Amino acid sequence: MTEILIATFNENKRREIKALFTGYRKIKIMMLNDLKIHPPMIVEDGKTFRQNAVKKAVIMSRFFDGFVVADDSGLEVAVLNGKPGIRSARFARVNATDTENNAKLLNLLENVPIEKRTARFVCHIAFAKNGKLLDSFEGQISGKILFEGRGGNGFGYDPLFVPDRHEKTLAEMSPGYKNRISHRAGALKEFKKVSHKYF
Ligand code: IMP
Repeated sequence: MTEILIATFNENKRREIKALFTGYRKIKIMMLNDLKIHPPMIVEDGKTFRQNAVKKAVIMSRFFDGFVVADDSGLEVAVLNGKPGIRSARFARVNATDTENNAKLLNLLENVPIEKRTARFVCHIAFAKNGKLLDSFEGQISGKILFEGRGGNGFGYDPLFVPDRHEKTLAEMSPGYKNRISHRAGALKEFKKVSHKYF
């Protein structure tokens, strides 16, 4: 049985990544709270999603015998030159709530017409073992930022984001559907293409 540790404290991301691994037989998914040791706090000081994901996966893999998966993800809004980007979780302030971050985004986009509200979610997933990076993968989903939030599912900026070729926001979609089209699903799909190399 291969053990994979999902190295994130974000409950929403944990749930989505775990669901993305269903269908893999012979894999046991582990969470940080399954570890006997107290994992270290990792400062996300990279300049890219990739740097942060790699740092998290590599450091955590020194504390765990199996494989470690870590992701870094966020929203890039074109008219804001890619903001909030790697600062997505702490856009309004350190430890900001989703409501605060969404309010800040809507304020900044106040007079921006719908055709210029293009954005994309990006997810970088890194895969490490014994302190070494094995591989990393990126997924993206493009769409638009609405003028107000809609829907109660998902997390983060989901209520404001309508993916291209869709009418519902990510927060109006079922978790299963979001998990088929999301940036996180895109990154995991890339991972699945090469996963036979590892298990
Ligand atoms: P991280 O934990 O540093 O990767 O921060 C991710 C942040 O990006 C979250 O707190 C959200 O604000 C945003 N984000 C990432 N993925 C999603 C998603 O699937 N839906 C909505 N917001 C997301």
